[in-house]
Amino acid sequence: DTKTSLDSLHRLRDEIVHRNPAQPEFHQAVHEVLETLAPVLAARPEYAEPGLLERLAEPERQIIFRVPWQDDKGRVHVNRGYRVEFNSALGPYKGGLRFHPSVNLGIIKFLGFEQIFKNALTGQGIGGGKGGSDFDPRGRSDAEIMRFCQSFMTELQRHIGEHTDVPAGDIGVGTREIGYLFGQYRRITNRWEGILTGKGQGWGGSLVRPEATGYGNVLFAAAMLRERGEDLEGQTAVVSGSGNVAIYTIEKLAALGANAVTCSDSTGYVVDEKGIDLELLKQIKEVERGRVSDYAERRGASARFMPGGRVWEVPADVALPSATQNELNEDDAATLVRNGVKAVSEGANMPTTPEAVHLLQKAGVAFGPGKAANAGGVAVSALEMAQNASRTAWQAERVESELARIMNDIHTTCHETATRYGAPGDYVAGANIAGFERVADAMLAQGV
Ligand code: GLU
Repeated sequence: DTKTSLDSLHRLRDEIVHRNPAQPEFHQAVHEVLETLAPVLAARPEYAEPGLLERLAEPERQIIFRVPWQDDKGRVHVNRGYRVEFNSALGPYKGGLRFHPSVNLGIIKFLGFEQIFKNALTGQGIGGGKGGSDFDPRGRSDAEIMRFCQSFMTELQRHIGEHTDVPAGDIGVGTREIGYLFGQYRRITNRWEGILTGKGQGWGGSLVRPEATGYGNVLFAAAMLRERGEDLEGQTAVVSGSGNVAIYTIEKLAALGANAVTCSDSTGYVVDEKGIDLELLKQIKEVERGRVSDYAERRGASARFMPGGRVWEVPADVALPSATQNELNEDDAATLVRNGVKAVSEGANMPTTPEAVHLLQKAGVAFGPGKAANAGGVAVSALEMAQNASRTAWQAERVESELARIMNDIHTTCHETATRYGAPGDYVAGANIAGFERVADAMLAQGV
């Protein structure tokens, strides 16, 4: 029964913590999934098969490598590169590369673990993986970024392939970095292959890929509101972050008649009562690679920069965390609830702490977990793979309508699965169970 399943899941969680010391984010991601699986293990005995969950929690392969590179003064630096090939039961490993000083093996494993279920939810035949480096791109020249990417790919190229493992971007890795990485792969292998997604338009990239994560999250939030008889029209939204996900979240909110009033970076946040001016934000972040404080300086009277503050203190109907893991804690959640928030949907990976998720759900707020809500990015990556494989390039309308269909399907799947297992409205349980069922079925069919 459910009680027995819960006990054995807790034992398993303790074992996983013991086997993977000092990886708190990985523990958090595993715990969050296991916590929701008791009802499905109780109802479907085949999933309780010994070893299935242990296999799921252990990456198929973990690659750690040296990335030496020279700065503009000729000094040599050594960073560490990672690629965790977590699960390939559903297709080639798929997931981004993150370049950020906080990167370590535990962070990459948490991201790779999430990616398994996220990718399963898209229904597109992609496995889960993640990679990156503790390299800090901030303040580095274009030439330094290029040399770093080339060194990173010099090792990574032997592990990836269009039928094996297809990385993409994440924090610190955008079209520029994908370009330098792709060029090095091509130079070393003498092959033009779709081994990365998020490529530039004109050299194999898909239209709408840059927009896809942010657009998809807004579509998911809209679907959750629709379920409650509401929509985004006229709603005020708080968005954290100011990277690719945040920018296209703000753009889609505006397109659907909502008003995004914030954005942020590690130094603080901007609140703009007239709504964020997207052209100005894009100019500062994408062209000048500046900070959100520059935005406040140039925008005029409607905008204020709040150094060190948190966007969650700004009253809003909808909150879309789009920066990084654990950026929205229990106190922030309490503030949002006090201010009447109706929906929280995760554009970043695991931005909401477990305590904050419980608080929001108890308060009746619609909560969209990242592995469902931010799946639009990887979904369009899979469409990019399809375009590369067939040597075609789709029109933007086709990609956008596929993205909308996929996001609506994910919403429906999560909603129906949660209802089927006695937790109506719980998108966390719905996403975890539905993603798990797809991966588990494939793993069982393919044997040990
Ligand atoms: N980094 C994104 C994510 O977290 C996209 C991955 C991809 O496109 O492969 O899902």
